[in-house]
Amino acid sequence: MTTTAANQRMFDNESDYCAHFIRHDQIDKYLANDRDFIPDDAIQALLATTGEPDPQCVRDILAKSLAIETLTPEETATLLRVTAPGLQAEMVEAAWQVKHKVYDNRIVTFAPLYISNPCLNRCLYCGFSTDNQQQCRTHLGMEDIRRECEVLAGGIGHKRLILDCGEHPESSTDYLLDALRTIYGTQVRTRRGVAQIRRVNLNVAPMPIEDLRLLKGAGIGTFQVFQETYHHDSYRRMHPGNTPKSDYRWRLTCMHRALEAGVDDVGIGVLFGLYDWRFEVLALVHHARELEARFRIGPHTISFPRLQPASAAPLATKSPWLVSDADFLHAITVLRLSVPYSGMIITAREREDVRREAVRRGCTQMDAGSRVGIGAYARFSETQEIDGQQFILGDTRSLDELVCDLARQGTITSFCTAGYRCGRTGGCIMDALKTGKEGKFCKVNAVLTFREWLDDFANPQSLTLCEPLLQRELEEIRQQLPKLYPTVQDAYDRISAGERDIFF
Ligand code: SAM
Ligand code: SF4
Repeated sequence: MTTTAANQRMFDNESDYCAHFIRHDQIDKYLANDRDFIPDDAIQALLATTGEPDPQCVRDILAKSLAIETLTPEETATLLRVTAPGLQAEMVEAAWQVKHKVYDNRIVTFAPLYISNPCLNRCLYCGFSTDNQQQCRTHLGMEDIRRECEVLAGGIGHKRLILDCGEHPESSTDYLLDALRTIYGTQVRTRRGVAQIRRVNLNVAPMPIEDLRLLKGAGIGTFQVFQETYHHDSYRRMHPGNTPKSDYRWRLTCMHRALEAGVDDVGIGVLFGLYDWRFEVLALVHHARELEARFRIGPHTISFPRLQPASAAPLATKSPWLVSDADFLHAITVLRLSVPYSGMIITAREREDVRREAVRRGCTQMDAGSRVGIGAYARFSETQEIDGQQFILGDTRSLDELVCDLARQGTITSFCTAGYRCGRTGGCIMDALKTGKEGKFCKVNAVLTFREWLDDFANPQSLTLCEPLLQRELEEIRQQLPKLYPTVQDAYDRISAGERDIFF
């Protein structure tokens, strides 16, 4: 197994690393007349010329979202401009319906796993920036990663991880491949069976096609990279120096490379607070439409972290573009309506109340019991230290608490990881999501994995609270899928008896 040469050697400086690692031929092929697909001027003009819209025009757009069609930038700009409370409430209701049509009453959970924080980049907002001399730098070895997984899979009960690290020669593709092998290979005994992490998504630096092919071969789930800000000038200011991340287009085209490499679950995102949030929402829609037009696959997920305080990063609290709760929630509603089939991730950076409201507006994935320090699960400190972690979290509830909170709202927590393991990814899952077919598999898998989790990890009070919800879901399957139901009931009984990892 080989990786690109840039991954295997050490470098004298950042320019040396950039020169070897960034492949201009893998950027230029996606440009048209030397322009990328984010038209700053056109987006600004659209924002400047779109006024408070006519209610009928908004309702027509909502009907298109409810038909699970991607909106145009013009339609998105119209929704962004809605301020009338009654019309905003109609948008929230439509967003909820869209979410239900595509994803039913499920929330998928995951945990972030930070494995390394040395970083060559100088992002002005991040505690891992190379300029942060106060930061303690740690790079987990495979034994450390195995210990983290034992806590995540065996102690807490997570089945999905998102692997995070800084951009550095030490965190090469070979290192990521080793980490993937270690994570997938760690099995832990639980109360009633065995547990392991079944899906590892990555949130790492952009990379060349050759490396993405290797990661695909190692069984990664979603490949996520956030553009942070799509606004070219702001991007340049936020990422100073000649660092790998200062190349806007290398980052912007990374999902093109991933899709070409066969990694067909890709996750895009912005970091709200670096520039005008309305601009970022429109740019995300441009990105989704570009991927749809070129590859017939849109983003599997969209993320929209908001800036949080971070060590030695004053911009994180002083940026003139910080986004209020009200604007943030409106942005989420508009995104749900504009890209109706994509999963939407609301992380524990946000407070509990904001997360609850974000779910009401269509978010589909949440992390819980998260720790964003290196090796922080095995250390299991109850307090958050700003040094040693990337930023400060807003919601520190445990997975058990989140599961119960969702259950009280009639929402089932899904630990399903079946999709990519039976080839339901990319264009195939896009079509299934748009037509509601995927929902049927997801419902069955949600029930089966919820049974597993309750038996293996829930505390007695949580079990009592969640059991009626689980039985209601099972009954719905019996009514909606009568032919499949006997097979589902058989799988359910086998799981109750201690068998694990049965999926449809
Ligand atoms: N180093 C890689 C990169 O930058 O793409 C990996 C991901 S980094 C660990 C994960 C994400 O955290 C970044 O893409 C950024 O959006 C977000 N982030 C960085 N600093 C943050 C802060 N102060 N508050 C909230 N999110 C932040
Ligand atoms: Fe490094 Fe990513 Fe932090 Fe930037 S956001 S300093 S690239 S870890």
